[in-house]
Amino acid sequence: MMALLEVEDLRVAYGKIEAVKGISFSVEAGEVVTLIGTNGAGKTTTLRTLSGLLKPLAGKITFEGQVLNGVGAHKIVSMGLAHSPEGRRIFPRLSIEENLQLGAFLRKDTDGIARDIDSAYERFPILGERRRQAAGTLSGGEQQMLAMGRALMSRPKLLMLDEPSMGLSPIMMQKIMATISELKSAGTTILLVEQNAQAALSLADHGHVMEIGSITLSGTGEELLHDESVRKAYLGED
Ligand code: ATP
Repeated sequence: MMALLEVEDLRVAYGKIEAVKGISFSVEAGEVVTLIGTNGAGKTTTLRTLSGLLKPLAGKITFEGQVLNGVGAHKIVSMGLAHSPEGRRIFPRLSIEENLQLGAFLRKDTDGIARDIDSAYERFPILGERRRQAAGTLSGGEQQMLAMGRALMSRPKLLMLDEPSMGLSPIMMQKIMATISELKSAGTTILLVEQNAQAALSLADHGHVMEIGSITLSGTGEELLHDESVRKAYLGED
């Protein structure tokens, strides 16, 4: 069976600087796949390319058998790929509810949108309690919940999360990771970019280590979590 997402020999450059140097990986429906690696490895560039925000230099991206190369960002959202970006990028002056509505900008089913906003409030009660408040008043972890809630509003077949744990307290981080686990149990397919390798590998079915634009190691989350080189480089062990 064909994977939901297939990335083949993808290369992406900023001018002359090649940030992604020919990576290949796939994501099966129902899986959580993680890309781990340090700052500058090319993880964010990869996600932005999958979303249609950057154009690949070479390679092939296929989603549900359809080639995504050259497809516009809006169309990619409508095909079922949602992106919760690094740094959350919520709209601080808009209310929480308005931010969620923006995640449904391509949908016309008003009743369905209202139901999904209610589901977001069930999943994240704090968002419901503060629905009329400016999103900028939320804490970092709450803003991350909003960013995830907003991405889910497009009813994605694949949810891409870029460093959801960034800048969060350990408790908030655990909460966000638990939410990702719940989404996985509910059948959501997730591509997770993380610098927190321990947390990401613990819940991922498969993982790939990225280093300066290349995938240097791949395995199940479990395999990578116990891999000696991963433990040394990313889990802070001697
Ligand atoms: P981070 O966690 O910091 O986002 P990352 O693994 O996601 O790291 P990228 O942000 O994809 O890495 O960056 C990959 C490389 O591309 C880095 O060398 C970075 O400096 C470079 N880069 C990223 N954005 C740009 C840009 N807009 N213009 C030029 N170079 C860029």
